[in-house]
Amino acid sequence: MIHRIPRPDARLDDSTRLLNVARDGRPPLPSMMIAAPLPDDVSVSFEFFPPKSDEAAETLWSAIKRLEPLAPEYVSVTYGAGGTTRERTHATVTRIANETAMAPAAHLTCVGATIDEVDAVAESYWDAGVKHIVALRGDPPAGADRYQPHPGGYAYAADLVTGLKKIADFEISVAAYPEMHPEAGSAEADLDNLKRKIDNGATRAITQFFFDPEVFLRFLDRARAAGITVPIVPGIIPVTNFNMTAKFAKMCGADVPKWMHDLFDGLDDDAETRKLIAASVAAEQCRVLHASGVNAFHFYTMNKADLCYAICHVMGVRSSSAV
Ligand SMILES: Cc1cc2nc3c(=O)[nH]c(=O)nc-3n(C[C@H](O)[C@H](O)[C@H](O)COP(=O)(O)OP(=O)(O)OC[C@H]3O[C@@H](n4cnc5c(N)ncnc54)[C@H](O)[C@@H]3O)c2cc1C
Repeated sequence: MIHRIPRPDARLDDSTRLLNVARDGRPPLPSMMIAAPLPDDVSVSFEFFPPKSDEAAETLWSAIKRLEPLAPEYVSVTYGAGGTTRERTHATVTRIANETAMAPAAHLTCVGATIDEVDAVAESYWDAGVKHIVALRGDPPAGADRYQPHPGGYAYAADLVTGLKKIADFEISVAAYPEMHPEAGSAEADLDNLKRKIDNGATRAITQFFFDPEVFLRFLDRARAAGITVPIVPGIIPVTNFNMTAKFAKMCGADVPKWMHDLFDGLDDDAETRKLIAASVAAEQCRVLHASGVNAFHFYTMNKADLCYAICHVMGVRSSSAV
């Protein structure tokens, strides 16, 4: 016998509500997040890294072209220490500015350069029409075990934000860490640092990746309580290579919950299945965050479009032209 239990959830249509009716007196199952009405207020941004070879450039540009019709708010390109990686970032950012309708954001770090050198890079971006910088301290270069400010360089991201604002009225985004930056003395000190970056002129924080939506939501609460009012955008990583992501997560202090290990267990040699699971995990993560009031998402694309495209589709972010 089916008992119809009235549900307060007005967001579900009749057929979905019927599926959620309790049977034989058992309590109703929780609604599937994916069955909620399609979001219509979501904005997205995509992060790429500069390619190292012609083949990698082709992969990147096919991803960029696939994602462009989704009209992201901006697309960002990461920055590494050392001359050639810097040039590759610059070339990728300016090509996006010149050849696409998307607004590029250039990542810029303090590592291994004097203030004058960093300022010159920023000035060349401004002159090329790139007005959005993701301002970062950067990680220690390969071989160095800890970060050392460059003598005569910007020491921390907060100092870089101040310097950039002196050059021009850049839009500036900065990094935030829901699970605390691994070198921070405490979660409070890390939040103070984020506040400093905002007070110095940044207008958006993009987070390190995380998997448990609760982790992000608790961080958001703490940031708001600390007086940080700018948008804090969750960084979402669709995990195609679980082992690599787990290793990277360990280095940057992000927790990989047991349920993630369980989901990807036994799939080391099965990239296709990993991809399907990655899309479903990230889509669920975004839907849960959206149900909690989050409506902007930053995707770590790893220069691949397919998963991000699918997740955006689930989030109601659709191509403005047929593809
Ligand atoms: C969205 C995003 C994008 C990224 N893109 C890149 C990229 O393109 N290239 C790259 O190399 N890396 C990138 N990173 C990684 C980033 O560079 C590292 O996480 C780096 O270790 C910290 O950078 P930050 O800008 O957060 O540093 P900061 O905000 O400067 O903080 C770094 C650490 O120093 C502490 N601190 C800050 N100020 C002081 C002070 N005055 N005295 C003592 N301690 C202080 C902070 O609490 C924190 O622990 C990115 C990270 C994120 C989240």
